[in-house]
Amino acid sequence: MGVRVAIVGGGIAGLMMAACLPPERFEVTVYEERPGRWGTGAAIGLWPGALHALASIGVAQHLVDGAIHLDRGLVRDAAGTPLIGMNGIGLRMVTRPQLIEALEAAMPPDVRRVTAAVADPRGLPADIVIGADGVRSAVRQTVFGTDLGPRATPWLALRGMRAGAPLAQHVGEYWGRGDLFGLTPAPGESTYWFVAFRSTLGPQDVEPEEALAQARALMAGPGHAPIVRELLAQADPATTLAQRIFEAPPMARVVRGRVALIGDAAHAMTPNLGRGACEAIVDAHTLASLLSETRRSPAAALAAYERRRLLPGQVLRVASRALMRVAAAERGQPARDALLRRVPAPRGTPGPPLGSRGLARAARSRRPPEVVSGQDSGEDGGNRL
Ligand SMILES: Cc1cc2nc3c(=O)[nH]c(=O)nc-3n(C[C@H](O)[C@H](O)[C@H](O)COP(=O)(O)OP(=O)(O)OC[C@H]3O[C@@H](n4cnc5c(N)ncnc54)[C@H](O)[C@@H]3O)c2cc1C
Repeated sequence: MGVRVAIVGGGIAGLMMAACLPPERFEVTVYEERPGRWGTGAAIGLWPGALHALASIGVAQHLVDGAIHLDRGLVRDAAGTPLIGMNGIGLRMVTRPQLIEALEAAMPPDVRRVTAAVADPRGLPADIVIGADGVRSAVRQTVFGTDLGPRATPWLALRGMRAGAPLAQHVGEYWGRGDLFGLTPAPGESTYWFVAFRSTLGPQDVEPEEALAQARALMAGPGHAPIVRELLAQADPATTLAQRIFEAPPMARVVRGRVALIGDAAHAMTPNLGRGACEAIVDAHTLASLLSETRRSPAAALAAYERRRLLPGQVLRVASRALMRVAAAERGQPARDALLRRVPAPRGTPGPPLGSRGLARAARSRRPPEVVSGQDSGEDGGNRL
């Protein structure tokens, strides 16, 4: 009999975990309360670390083939003037359903799928329990502490897709005064857009229509770039995702006894670094690889996982929040923009200079420097929300 692994949560982290465990050694059960909820969904950026992990289960190439390659990120002020950019980011944009489908297809056929909401994982018949149940993790709260619930941030996020690829001169993140807007090209000749701003809506069941009305009102003035207003005006509430942004609490441990947390259950973060799903993928891959090493006992593998992955997740959670504070700064916005305009262009970066003067010059010349070095899209974009 193999090692019995119960995975609570069949999102990105849980599916990746199930896909990485060799079936000849592990008997895997995935408990998911809402299977198939990923039919719709916005785009997601995959960084090289996550692509490397996905390559180990043979899905990276398939995903990359259909992905948009973004090699340059650009931050603009609210009106669209470029402030700062970064080359060589190596990001691949896929849609969330594409990623979920690829993970589903990579799972060994003998993985058991159970549709159930696990309220308390302690009774699960398993040698190892993996909490991959997201920011509201029941596993985290029952096993690690009842005070470790999700933390609501003051920010609301809206996301959507629009048919038609964006013009290169519009791509990037627009950092305003208390708000943030972003747009990138996405697979299928489409545009992925996202907004974040402070709001009292929610925290649960945020109505897209209401949230869109708030975003439109906030960004209605001439201080915001016309493309921002246009995308918000055209957004269809029926296909817009609106939610309060939650974070996981700070965690000093992600392993207790036979239980380990991965993905958002361990380190849900604000989306500013675009790293949540990527870290979930790397967590799962790291833990599965350690468990698969025959020289280690499961307990030793869990301990090694915690040593490797606790700190990166916690640091990124803090860094993402710090970036959100900067990107959606209110009183500090003028100082922030002035400071970013002074950041010198990085040395040795290929293509046009990325300092703000070079970017502004290029924007004026109507040949914006964010035009791509990506191989697939011919276009470029900024960080994900
Ligand atoms: C606006 C926004 C934009 C983002 N953009 C990016 C991006 O570009 N790049 C990136 O890397 N990340 C991004 N992220 C973060 C990314 O979405 C998450 O980090 C990622 O989804 C985490 O995956 P997960 O599997 O850990 O958790 P989840 O996706 O939350 O999956 C958890 C699963 O567990 C199930 N579940 C929950 N509780 C139970 C239970 N008790 N019993 C059974 N099942 C349960 C849920 O139904 C769900 O399917 C973004 C997040 C937001 C909010």
